[in-house]
Parts: sequence; structure tokens; C-alpha cells
Amino acid sequence: MEKKLHIYNTLTRKKELFVPLNPPFVGMYVCGPTVYGEAHLGHARPGITFDVLFRYLKYSGYKVRYVRNITDVGHLVNDADEGEDKIQKRAKLEKLEPMEIAQEYTNSFHKNMEELNTLAPSIEPHASGHIIEQQEYVKKLLDNGYAYIKNGSVYFDVEKYNKVFHYGKLSGRNIEDLISNTRKLDGQDEKKNPFDFALWKNANPEHIMKWTSPWGVGFPGWHLECSCMSQKYLGDTFDIHGGGLDLQFPHHECEIAQSTAAMGHEAVHFWMHNNMVTINGQKMGKSLGNFITLNQLFSGENKVLEQAYSPMTVRFFILQAHYRSPLDFSNEALKASEKGYQRLMNAVRSIAKIKSAKNSTINIEKLEESCFEAINDDFNTPILISNLFEGVKMINSLISGKEKITASDLDKLNKLYQDFVYKILGLKDENESNGNEHRALGKVLDIVMSIRSEAKLNKDWNTSDKIRDKLNEAGIVVKDTKDGYDWSVE
Ligand code: ZN
Repeated sequence: MEKKLHIYNTLTRKKELFVPLNPPFVGMYVCGPTVYGEAHLGHARPGITFDVLFRYLKYSGYKVRYVRNITDVGHLVNDADEGEDKIQKRAKLEKLEPMEIAQEYTNSFHKNMEELNTLAPSIEPHASGHIIEQQEYVKKLLDNGYAYIKNGSVYFDVEKYNKVFHYGKLSGRNIEDLISNTRKLDGQDEKKNPFDFALWKNANPEHIMKWTSPWGVGFPGWHLECSCMSQKYLGDTFDIHGGGLDLQFPHHECEIAQSTAAMGHEAVHFWMHNNMVTINGQKMGKSLGNFITLNQLFSGENKVLEQAYSPMTVRFFILQAHYRSPLDFSNEALKASEKGYQRLMNAVRSIAKIKSAKNSTINIEKLEESCFEAINDDFNTPILISNLFEGVKMINSLISGKEKITASDLDKLNKLYQDFVYKILGLKDENESNGNEHRALGKVLDIVMSIRSEAKLNKDWNTSDKIRDKLNEAGIVVKDTKDGYDWSVE
């Protein structure tokens, strides 16, 4: 199949043909979470959006290096350069070390991402593990004249940068807007301009996560880690940078400014942003009382939820919207996705029941083409899913005998669904995985029970009772029957 993937580039505001800078290698960097709390519905969307990108690029034969960072230092409470560090604040509340907080929520993020069947990134660098590299980056920006030191902090000089380059090009802002939209300096501020941002912040004595530097004891600014770590692992220029739309400004805008000021040219070829998730039309927020974590979504334990939703229902729900469109969560929408997901899985399972014939009355190539067309059109997963449902009608007609298919077309049909549903969209059959585990447990029990029979034959009642008791303890009830045994899980 001809590769003609088009991706909407946020920077140029148009869909462009994707051609890697250095084929067959593709470098992609995605801004990961700040690990100070459990992952929520808002984390699922970039997780799944960029997982489909990663999966499809690999499926297309590219060698992809997917870097997703973990922010464990420097992200302050108000997203700007003021307030407490988010992780430190949580650590004080829970009376734990900041690194315990970061570890706990990194682990829980990984667990949730695995439940959503997203593939792990190739490299997952932590901000706190790259303090030296970030200091080197600050030095470079100072040497190049785009930063200044004030009271042990280092700030990026936006006005100076903007004289040579364009600050605001990604988010469509210009410096005049920024001047009129930001508060006036009150004289106490260390910055030359309110839109300047911190590269390195001087730490006050109460601050816990801090390091020595040429400018005094402090910590890196939030935006710096991504310029620094993307360059370290993907080089001076790389193919794709992704993240949520909420990161476009100021985070990604500042990242472009840092990288460009350091290297004299931009680092990123394609910028991709996923849109936000709203809940019943409202922005999700703790203060609004509609905050849903992924654990709550999977267990149903949240007053907003009418029931639990399985990880694959959530994945299907997210894939049913285009990643650049807003997505509104509601119980009705999730329930509809649950049905849709089950219907698709039933169809994929029933392909095995189709019997081949001498001729085909259906056109598999056309279906295949429409699926590739959708995914190649800036990852249009809703259209792709609706094409797959067109194919479901075909599958049902083949089962009922209304349509016919040759053996080779049947192979193609099977491959099409295996590839698009499992490999590219990253769905998995939740029922089947339970079935597989059940079957595996049955085989293990056959082995255990044959050992028990041997023990009984040898009148080794001790071993035979022990096996029964230990299985009981593990919640597996075994009953002897006429022709062997029967078992159930309590
Ligand atoms: Zn970032």
C-alpha cells in the first residue's frame, strides 16, 4: 500500500504529507504527565492519540523512537513561574518525600496506560534526571544572549528573541497581544517583561527539590526539560512533537523559543495537538466536582458515573472522535461506545465462522482502501471506525450466506480486521483475554490435579490434602467428580 500519510501540522495550520527527515527512522516526542496525582480522563486522550500515531508509523515500516517525558520537578502550581512546585505541594500534604510522590504516580500512570493498551514509549526521561543537561542548556542560552540572570534566577528574554525570530508563531499570538494581555510589572518582579519565563529559578530555603548551579541553589523552569531532553534523545531536528492543546501556549511556544535560540533553527518538523475532553459540556476540574480519574472510570466509583466503563470502552470512545475535535464525556456517550465496541468485537470474532466459496461477491480491496484513506487523512479514526462497521455488514452477510467469498479474500478480510482493530487502533478483545486466561488456568489445574492423583495413589494423604487446602486458600474450589474433577473460582 502506498504510504501517503498526511498530518495536520499545528505550526503551518495545514495538512502536510508526512515524509521522515531521516527515513526509515522517525523521532517523536510527546509531553508526558506531571506526576503529582492519579491519571484522569484528560490523560487518556493524548495517551491514546499518540499511541495510534506510534502504532501506525511502526505498522508502516518505520523505525520509531518514541520519547515521552515524566515531569517530576519544576512544574509550578499556576503553570507560570510562581507558586509552589506541584509535586512538592502534594508531598507536604501526604507527608512524603517528593520523589515518593513522583514514583507513586508514575507507577499508577503506567498501570492506567497499560490498561488502555497503549504501548510503552522507547525512552521515558525524567526531568530530575537531567539537571546537568538543563544547566548546560541555560548556559548556551546565556552565551547566545537570549537569557539574563536576576537574583540567582535565569529568565528567557522574549522581547530580544522576538527581534530575530517570531515568538508566538505556534499559537498565533504576537508580542503586542502579549503586552496588552499580561499584567503590568509591579516593580517587585525580577523579570524585564511579564511574558519572560524562567529557565532556572532560585529556590527559597523551604523549597525541597533544589540543586546547586552556577547561579545559586535552585531548580529548572518547567519548559526547559522538553527542549533539552528532546534534543538529547532525538537530535537537533526531529519529526513529530505532540501534546495536548492546553500545552500549546505557553509550554510549547516557550519550547520553540528555547530550541531556536539555542540552535539558531527550529527543532520540530510536525507539531501535533490533541483537543481536550469536557464532561457534560464543562471543563473538567476539581473545583467543579466533575473530576474523574481513570481508576474511578474503570471501577465506577465516582458520583458522576452511572456505571463502570472498561478500559477498551474508554479507548473506543476516544477513537470515535477525531483527535483534533473536542470530546464530551457523558454516561450516554460512554454507554453507546460500550455497545459499539462489543458489536465490533463480535464481528471480528465471527470472521472465523465464515466459510469460503469458489467466487467472491464482495470487494475487499475497496474496503481496505477506504480504511487506509481514513487513517492516512490525519488519523481520521471516526471515519475509519465507520468503514470498519460497513465491513461488519459484509461479515454478517457472509455468515448468513447472502454473500460469498474466496479463501484468499477471506484471508485478506481477516488480516484487514486484525491489522486495523488490534495493531493500529490498539483495541483488544476484553472477553477473549479473559477466555484465554481461563483456559490457561484450566491447563495449570490439570497439572496440579494429576500430581494430587498420584499422591492419592501412593496414599500420600498429606500432599493430597495440602494441594486441596492451598487451592482453597487461593480461591479455587476443586470438587472430585465421577470422571475427574470440577473447578471454579470464588
Ligand atoms: Zn513538554
